[in-house]
Amino acid sequence: MEQEKVKVLIIGSGPAGYTAAIYAARAGLKPVMVTGGEPGGQLTTTNDVENYPGYPEGINGPQMMVDFQKQAERFGTDIRYGMVTSVDFNGYPHKAVVDEKYELVAEAVVIATGASAKYLGLPSEEKYYNKGVSACAVCDGFFYKGKTVAVAGGGDTAAEEATYLANLCPKVYLLVRRDEMRASKIMQKRVMNTPNIEVLWNTETDEILGDGDNVTGVRVTNNQSNETQELDIEGFFVAIGHKPNTDIFKSFLDMDDTGYLKVNPGTAKTKIKGVFVSGDAADKVYRQAVTAAGTGCMAALDAERYLTEEGII
Ligand code: NDP
Repeated sequence: MEQEKVKVLIIGSGPAGYTAAIYAARAGLKPVMVTGGEPGGQLTTTNDVENYPGYPEGINGPQMMVDFQKQAERFGTDIRYGMVTSVDFNGYPHKAVVDEKYELVAEAVVIATGASAKYLGLPSEEKYYNKGVSACAVCDGFFYKGKTVAVAGGGDTAAEEATYLANLCPKVYLLVRRDEMRASKIMQKRVMNTPNIEVLWNTETDEILGDGDNVTGVRVTNNQSNETQELDIEGFFVAIGHKPNTDIFKSFLDMDDTGYLKVNPGTAKTKIKGVFVSGDAADKVYRQAVTAAGTGCMAALDAERYLTEEGII
């Protein structure tokens, strides 16, 4: 397979990847970015982003990622549309195969592969995606101010999203599929102490209902009594977990049970020299564009220092 040498390889093209690219390119490292299957990342699937500093009027997600890309390209980032299908971090330099076609041989690698929200898998969920269905209350909750909404899930994310939405919405249904929540005790307590959250236990989502343009309700079933009911809601938030896109790194890097990569605290460094991680691939708690961008910056600075210390640049 044809090989190509690069100083810095960035895998992934969300806010973390582009920020790493901007820093690495401005440092003269001529980074090569391989975009992944969803160029621009999760933000390309949202509408308005109103919580990213610097955009006082808000900006639409895809446009924001075009801006990130332009800024990275302005300083000479080499952007390749494609997928890294496998890596080899056993020796130095590190290797990454792109689309099974060629191999990049990189002195430093910044992983910015992100995570994907899990969905229930209902056709109606897909139909009303961004028309009332969302997987991020912090991103989209504001648009449901004053409206009744439902959150599906029973973990910390669901608890956090439900309490967040309860500050904006008069009524929040929390749909938990078992008779208990997986969330931490403190988060559960917060849910129970919020009067406008109604927890529906043993409750599964059958169908998201709508008028063709917007969500108008949800049909749910109690899996103990088999009773079905329809709830009038205008927003449906899926909060059943995320999956970090880290499968290809499994045999090289430390990760938790879900696949979130582990970094040395306070840095973007992994246990392998020259391999750095940024963004949601290593963040199961904050998962915001701005935090991803922040860790992308850290990864590029750590990579630059590594290359200097090793005498590579
Ligand atoms: P979790 O995997 O912890 O929880 C997922 C929840 O969704 C579970 O209650 C699960 O039910 C439910 N679920 C899964 N699939 C379905 C389905 N098909 N239908 C209905 N319900 C479903 O994911 P989280 O995103 O909540 O949390 C991930 C990790 O991030 C955890 O370690 C969490 O502690 C951490 N986190 C920490 C935060 C913080 O510290 N502030 C904030 C957010 C997350 P069941 O229990 O029955 O499997």
